[in-house]
Amino acid sequence: MRASGLVGEHALKLLGDESGAVIQDRHGPLYWLVEPGSADGWDVRQVHVLGGAAARASYVGVPPAHWTGPPGIHWRIPVGPGRYLTDPALLRQSLALAARAELGPAGEAGPVTSRICVRCDRPTSTPVVVGQAHSASAGGRDIYSCPTCVRTFPQPVDPITQIDALRRTRQEGA
Ligand SMILES: [Zn+2]
Repeated sequence: MRASGLVGEHALKLLGDESGAVIQDRHGPLYWLVEPGSADGWDVRQVHVLGGAAARASYVGVPPAHWTGPPGIHWRIPVGPGRYLTDPALLRQSLALAARAELGPAGEAGPVTSRICVRCDRPTSTPVVVGQAHSASAGGRDIYSCPTCVRTFPQPVDPITQIDALRRTRQEGA
């Protein structure tokens, strides 16, 4: 079970002592371990069930037991006596609550128009394309930014929008 850093950290707080062992990736995502098959069909935003019904092998790097801190992949909550798997119902509830708290209620901004901002990792219903990711397997894929973060990108991708924005700024300043 992989959760984004944003949702995962929140869920971790909600779970408290009820959480089983947790692995943290070097990039922030958190991994919980649950009974195989117990999380099939989950639909929580920014949460991915690995090795679930999708008949596709997934691999999670498992760090040695004594790696309990960053940098790199480590046990955020180490395996201990009676601490390994997490109760799936409890985990699902915590992750759903965390997703709602961090990402807002699901709804209006549906999956079609809502995109994850490449900078702040939050969904935005008014995404701006700021580039393209190229990979051998996925081909070209648009990268999105939210309107707040888009200012941090050096190159305007859509010059017309940029000019409009400039004009507006100038008018406001006059
Ligand atoms: Zn952003």
